[in-house]
Formats: sequence, structure tokens, C-alpha cells
Amino acid sequence: MEFWYTEQHTPDVRFSIRVDHQLYSGQSEFQRIDVFESPEFGRFLTLDGYMMLTEKDEFIYHEMITHVPMCVHPEAKDILVIGGGDGGTVRELLRYPTIRRIDLVEIDEMVVDVCREYLSSTASGLSDERVSIHYEDGLRFVRKPIDAYDLIIVDSTDPFGPGEGLFTKEFYGNCFKALRSDGIMINQHESPFYEQDAYAMQRMHQRIVHSFPFSRVYQVHIPSYPSGHWLFGFSSKNRRPVEGVDFARWKSLGIKTRYYNTKLHAAAFALPNYVEEILEDVEPQC
Ligand code: SAM
Repeated sequence: MEFWYTEQHTPDVRFSIRVDHQLYSGQSEFQRIDVFESPEFGRFLTLDGYMMLTEKDEFIYHEMITHVPMCVHPEAKDILVIGGGDGGTVRELLRYPTIRRIDLVEIDEMVVDVCREYLSSTASGLSDERVSIHYEDGLRFVRKPIDAYDLIIVDSTDPFGPGEGLFTKEFYGNCFKALRSDGIMINQHESPFYEQDAYAMQRMHQRIVHSFPFSRVYQVHIPSYPSGHWLFGFSSKNRRPVEGVDFARWKSLGIKTRYYNTKLHAAAFALPNYVEEILEDVEPQC
């Protein structure tokens, strides 16, 4: 008998992956956690039945959420990651010897434990001495720090369940305060493609543009996510994501990547017209 994992992407669209077997299933205080083994995508993690990452395409997500801001702000030393208990974002950050401290704020300790056991390819860096893990709600955590971080990466679940607070004005306002004067916030910005996702992404953009003087969105292709067309938000106090960026400096670091490169970095900020329109509809008119 065949065993398939199916995620409902819209009421009329489903996405399925054939599964060899289930490696783990458990219920934490916050969500249901499952890990599967599949022939095409390798191991993959779902939370409450929603795809979080697969071994086959997680490099795209984690490289693009990390190397874009690190190329723009190569002096970034103190980093806050909110969510991201699988460790993929931390793994990419640890490739920069210049980074001094990474605070990882993950609400659910069980996600970290499960990833350490079943997804060592992403979780391997979580025990690094530069990493401090805080098992806390990111919404609460960012109420305290002021002028403390060079980069905040919001590597969250979707805007419902435990992740809901990470999509609020209060949260973005506190991220702004927690950042230094040349700091950057990157957030997973959902998808512009299906109507309901596009609506959530637009609301998020509306809140962010009111919290930061500069906000843009960039795109990536993630085959296991709804529609495959995914966005990240880039918000800052003064830095621009392409203009004036020293791309040669990033290249000189010799970091070997599979998806990210500096040409793609610049190109990722060029958006299709329909996405620009969704964003412009909620941007303040000058
Ligand atoms: N890196 C993954 C990917 O490739 O899409 C995605 C996300 S990661 C597993 C999302 C994490 O955010 C989950 O482990 C979840 O427990 C965590 N999370 C959700 N809400 C949170 C909150 N309010 N504070 C901190 N972490 C939260």
C-alpha cells in the first residue's frame, strides 16, 4: 500500500509527497510535530500538518533568509533568530566567523529536540558556543532588548497558531527598537500566489511598512511550499538591499552556496507586476 503526505494548499488544490515511512509523531504544548522519510524530498518536518522544511529544498530557504542580509550588512555581529528551531538559519549564520552571538528564540523545545534527533543536517549548529537558545515566545522576548542586534531574522511558522503574534504591529515595532541604527529585519513573508496567502502577505507588508522607514520584499522558489513562489521581507532603518552593497566583499569570503549568489541577490528584488501591485496597495502614498 502506498503512503502519501498531502497538504491542502487551497480548498481546491492539494500537494502530495509519497512517503516511505513516518519517523516521528508527537504533540507538544504548542503543535503537532511529524517527521517523514520520502523518496523524492528526503526527510521532511511538518507542524500541525503544514510543511516546514524538506531535506531536498531547505537550502533555498535558509540560504536566502541568511546570506541576503549578511551580504548587505557584513559587519553584523549580534543576531536574533525568532522561530527557526530546526537550526537551518543558524547553520548558515555560523558560516560567518565575524558573527559574535546568535540568540535563537524558539517557543517549542520539542521542535529542537526532534530536529536534533531526525534532521541533523539542519540542527547540527545548535550546540555551537556562539548560539544561545531561549525557549520563549518571540513576541514576549522582543519587548525587552533596545539597540541590541544588528540583524533580526524572523523564521516563523504561518500567521496562525503559536506564530500569530509574530505578524503583529507590536512585534514589528519592538523588532525596530531591538535593532541598532543600521540594523536589518528579515522575515518569512508568505506567498503572493493563492488568494488567501496573498491577503495574509499584504496585511503583513502593511504592518511592516508602518514600522520601518524602509521595506522591500524579495522572492525565492521553494518547490515544497504552496505555489512554490515565496517571499521574504527586508526592512531596515537605513540600509538598502542592493544599492551601494559591496557584492565583491561577500564573494571574497569564499562561502560556497547552492542557491544564493550575488547576481541572484540583486535579481530577487525585481518583482512581478502583480506582486508589486499587491504591495503598493498598502504602501503609504508619497
Ligand atoms: N525554517 C523553516 C522553514 O524552512 O520554513 C520554518 C520554520 S521553523 C520550523 C518555525 C518555528 O517557529 C517553529 O519551530 C515554531 O515552533 C516556531 N514558532 C512559532 N511561533 C513562535 C513564537 N511565537 N515564538 C518563537 N518561535 C515560534
